[in-house]
Amino acid sequence: MNLPMAKLTIHRIPARKDNYLWLAVEPEKNAVAVVDPSDAAPVRAKLKELGLRLTHILNTHHHNDHTGGNLELKAEFGLTIIGPRADAERIPGIDVAVGDGEHVMLGNAEAQVFDVPGHTRGHIAYWFAESDALFCGDTLFAMGCGRLFEGTPEQMWNSLSKFRPLPDSTKVYCAHEYTLSNARFALTVDGNNPLLIERAAHIAKMREAGQATVPSTLAEERATNPFLRADRPELAAAVNLSGEQPAQVFGAIRAAKDSFS
Ligand code: ZN
Ligand code: FE
Repeated sequence: MNLPMAKLTIHRIPARKDNYLWLAVEPEKNAVAVVDPSDAAPVRAKLKELGLRLTHILNTHHHNDHTGGNLELKAEFGLTIIGPRADAERIPGIDVAVGDGEHVMLGNAEAQVFDVPGHTRGHIAYWFAESDALFCGDTLFAMGCGRLFEGTPEQMWNSLSKFRPLPDSTKVYCAHEYTLSNARFALTVDGNNPLLIERAAHIAKMREAGQATVPSTLAEERATNPFLRADRPELAAAVNLSGEQPAQVFGAIRAAKDSFS
């Protein structure tokens, strides 16, 4: 039996003010996907630079800064759009709707789909295990997480908890460069964490030098992201909820971030 084993090459495409789109290239069958195209133009430019033809769009959720390029790219390339079943009617041009535990093939590369509601009700993530790549949209950010526009703290904590068991080496391809302000907030709730202090300083230097801070690794996020650490006593204490459930602690940390300037 031939198991799908193809490894992706992944390119970053900066767009709008702080969006990252990801171009995933599967070299065996020449499958090429863009994850969350906010706009067609920056994708077209990258494809031209690399001499590639787009075959798929992978959407994580319905927000316009993740789907705004869908219809234009579909008209141009006749590609296949894959997105969340729970929100299929809000994904422009969707062809294939997927949900928790299902698999998506990009050429010979296989992704497992996670339902991760919270930021929106139908948010999904794509995990390409062979490529150590997690495309998580606006669910998990470097040292942060998405705002709860359509979900509860319980849902979002449950969603983030699906990422925690993935391998240390998993690269977290999130959709925004929010890392510097996330680091500043993280220090207010987990300021005695030496790994966080070290990472925040490193991130500040990277941003000063104009460098992208994404992708990070899951090992880094587990060690320094307060939203993955709501089950730890020091985080509960920081929001005056010692002994309470992690989802409740998570909700308090998220609320504090919402009002952090
Ligand atoms: Zn969003
Ligand atoms: Fe977004």
